[in-house]
Amino acid sequence: MAKSEFSNSRSDKQLFETPVLIVGAGPAGQMAALMLSYQGIASTIVERRIERSSAPKAHAVNGRTLEICATHGVDIDRIYELATPAEQGGFVQFMSTLSGVAFGHLPYERQDDAVREFTPYPLANISQPNFERELSNAVDQRPDISVLHGFTCTAIQQDETGVTASIDGKGSSAPLQVRCRYLLAADGASSRIRGMLDISMEGPEALQHFMAIHFHADLSTCVKNNPGILYFLMDPEVSATMIAFDHSDNWVLMHSCTEEEQDTALFDAARCTTLIQRAIGMQVTDIRVRNVNPWTMSSQVAEHYRSGRVFLVGDAAHRFPPTGGLGLNTGIGDVQNITWKIAAVERGWAGESLLDTYQTERKPVAEVNSAQSLNNAMKMFELFAYLYGNDPENAAERFNQAKREGSGSIALQQAIEAQRPHFDSLRLQLGYSYDEVDQRNELSEAVNISEYEPSFKVGKSLPHVWVNNNYQRVSLLQILPVDRFAMIAFSDHSEWQSALEQLNLPIYLLADGDSFMGVAAAWSDAPELADVSALLIRPDRHIAAVFAMTNESKLERLRGALTAVLFNSSLESAQEYV
Ligand SMILES: Cc1cc2nc3c(=O)[nH]c(=O)nc-3n(C[C@H](O)[C@H](O)[C@H](O)COP(=O)(O)OP(=O)(O)OC[C@H]3O[C@@H](n4cnc5c(N)ncnc54)[C@H](O)[C@@H]3O)c2cc1C
Repeated sequence: MAKSEFSNSRSDKQLFETPVLIVGAGPAGQMAALMLSYQGIASTIVERRIERSSAPKAHAVNGRTLEICATHGVDIDRIYELATPAEQGGFVQFMSTLSGVAFGHLPYERQDDAVREFTPYPLANISQPNFERELSNAVDQRPDISVLHGFTCTAIQQDETGVTASIDGKGSSAPLQVRCRYLLAADGASSRIRGMLDISMEGPEALQHFMAIHFHADLSTCVKNNPGILYFLMDPEVSATMIAFDHSDNWVLMHSCTEEEQDTALFDAARCTTLIQRAIGMQVTDIRVRNVNPWTMSSQVAEHYRSGRVFLVGDAAHRFPPTGGLGLNTGIGDVQNITWKIAAVERGWAGESLLDTYQTERKPVAEVNSAQSLNNAMKMFELFAYLYGNDPENAAERFNQAKREGSGSIALQQAIEAQRPHFDSLRLQLGYSYDEVDQRNELSEAVNISEYEPSFKVGKSLPHVWVNNNYQRVSLLQILPVDRFAMIAFSDHSEWQSALEQLNLPIYLLADGDSFMGVAAAWSDAPELADVSALLIRPDRHIAAVFAMTNESKLERLRGALTAVLFNSSLESAQEYV
């Protein structure tokens, strides 16, 4: 459906049709539209806001998210240009106040070049509005995506063939009825659609209440000796976190408050400026408060991700504590998972049952990320316990003593060091598995979430490796197509090729030439590939099957593997497709 078929100024209620309706133009919604477009599926996004929210919210966009962006038309160079430079954003600081005693610091995630062994893209610290703007620029390039701003989805009705959504326009815009085959609820943490479907959330709902105060100020002189992206300010009078999107201009103060205090009317510019001054710990002129947003920390995952033809994605499906920087990133993983599956069903490659695997694959990932984010938040209490002691009456005295000791105390350094996994979770970012059992094992305390080991097991994401492609050094992940399966054949190339030709499904075969030589050489020592003839890779880069070197029929093995994946392990009719 072309963009021009929609208009904000129609006077009567009209029924529009779109293959996929996406409710919400946040990161999850926009990325879903892009991915569907790359799979040849048109979509329409409805977004209740006319203007994008300026609240910076997320800052950590990790390597996996950037890998996905890079293969879907998002300008990665521009993202790095807009990101906080690693010299500024490469640390987390633990301080009394922003200008006070520095207790210690930790590196902030993998922004170093060494991480390029595991992903072509080190994590970027970019404010969410800037990130969303880059997604919008990519969306605008796709003629099969329509975006309607100022339109709110107010009701949905489902039947066997599709969903009808009622959409109210702001101001003079007339209401719409949109008929779609599938609806993606990307409408955020308070998802109205989740409520309409009566899907409950599992896990604690209100762990802590905050007012996020977004302000502009040049604090670069104040922090020049202690650069960082996150400042945990431990003075009991302050007890807040500051996020530095740009030291010389763009900051957020996360002020902890009670539920009753979470009222924007109580936070006028004067009060916010006082709170900011206190957090800085010295007088700073020219603080401009931009806006305040109440925010409640939860650690919840939706009971169901699917209800008929409606799928919850992003924060609509899970809301984590921000301690881990995993919310937005997990949402992008969700839409990568559901979009190729919708496309496979729509293109006649797969049965409807494939769509059930969205929940079985993505919910365990959210549960692990939610648990880890909560662990990170709880672990901070050990640091507070050290700084304030166990006796509330003597907390101020104990804290003053800690300030006098400064960064010199070994016990303090140990308490800070214990926070390291909070800020180094490469394994969670890259190493999650769509094998449910493997993924649930990630909850074990023995797992070190900082240690990512590339793996070739079914369910894992195909490891990144640098290859030569047309005289350019690129990641293998960038050259595999996003709209079909791929096969990497290490042996019996021509037999695999002829087996693929007998399938009624396009599959990209990587077997010869420069790129393949790079892959084969880089992985020649991998023990998991010792007796492997070929790997079958899904459009989302997760490993669908590992074929051993045996004499069994390649065609039958391929058919079996594809049937298991595309028809969720069953259905004889699968044979006619594969
Ligand atoms: C302080 C803070 C720091 C964070 N830091 C990080 C971080 O570093 N890394 C990270 O990964 N995550 C982080 N997060 C989480 C991140 O902000 C969210 O996970 C992310 O915004 C979720 O994206 P989304 O697209 O699912 O939902 P949202 O961004 O909430 O977008 C939902 C959209 O749907 C629209 N909408 C809602 N209802 C309707 C309706 N009925 N009709 C039409 N439109 C509707 C809304 O207007 C909104 O635009 C942080 C969050 C906070 C609060």
